[in-house]
Amino acid sequence: MNLTLLGGPGAGKGTQAKRLLEKYRLLHISTGDILRQAIKDGTPLGLQAERYLKSGELVPDAIMLGIIEERLAQPDAAAGAIFDGFPRTLPQADGLEALLRKRKSRLNLCLSLEVPDELIIKRLSSRRICNQCGADYNVISNPPPADGKCLKCGGQIIQRADDFEETIRNRLAVYRRQTKPLQDYYSGRGLLRVVDGNQTVDDIFAKLCQTIDDHLKESAGN
Ligand code: AMP
Repeated sequence: MNLTLLGGPGAGKGTQAKRLLEKYRLLHISTGDILRQAIKDGTPLGLQAERYLKSGELVPDAIMLGIIEERLAQPDAAAGAIFDGFPRTLPQADGLEALLRKRKSRLNLCLSLEVPDELIIKRLSSRRICNQCGADYNVISNPPPADGKCLKCGGQIIQRADDFEETIRNRLAVYRRQTKPLQDYYSGRGLLRVVDGNQTVDDIFAKLCQTIDDHLKESAGN
């Protein structure tokens, strides 16, 4: 099974992907995490991608499709994946379809998390992450310890460079312009399922699981 999570920045894609992969035993492919790691490691990909991430713009499609093609070629991708933050443009969606087809596979569902802009700005400007293990914190709902050290690994807890308000607004504009049209793309293919992302993490997760399980039952019946 291959799933993609669609939604604006801060819609909760990463949080839900981490829970879904445990339950459905799928590989988590977060293009944002791959790019952040490459920047941290100073690889050629990281050097190319850094300025896009800093400004909240999208990394060019050809680079993104190259990353996905390479990731899908690894053996752990055979059972299926949750794509988190990919595709983000129509050419990426076409590219993903072609890559999966080549592997005699396909996308099963596109799960779209809907969250109002004001809530996204509030969520993201209060978000903090560990710069070592990526653990999530939030100054309002899950405050980091006073010494700023991650509870899981002792790494430094930081604010992501693209989680400052001006960049968040740009990321929202980029989402509306380049990514939101994917809703129509997947709706036209009968793959789109919209889930209200303005609920508790547990409630969103329950709704996503129900949507996936309904889909699995329908496919088994056909
Ligand atoms: P995310 O962690 O998914 O919010 O991604 C952070 C940033 O990484 C985005 O604002 C983009 O600059 C870049 N990025 C992540 N995924 C993609 C993608 N599929 N296409 C282009 N850029 C991406």
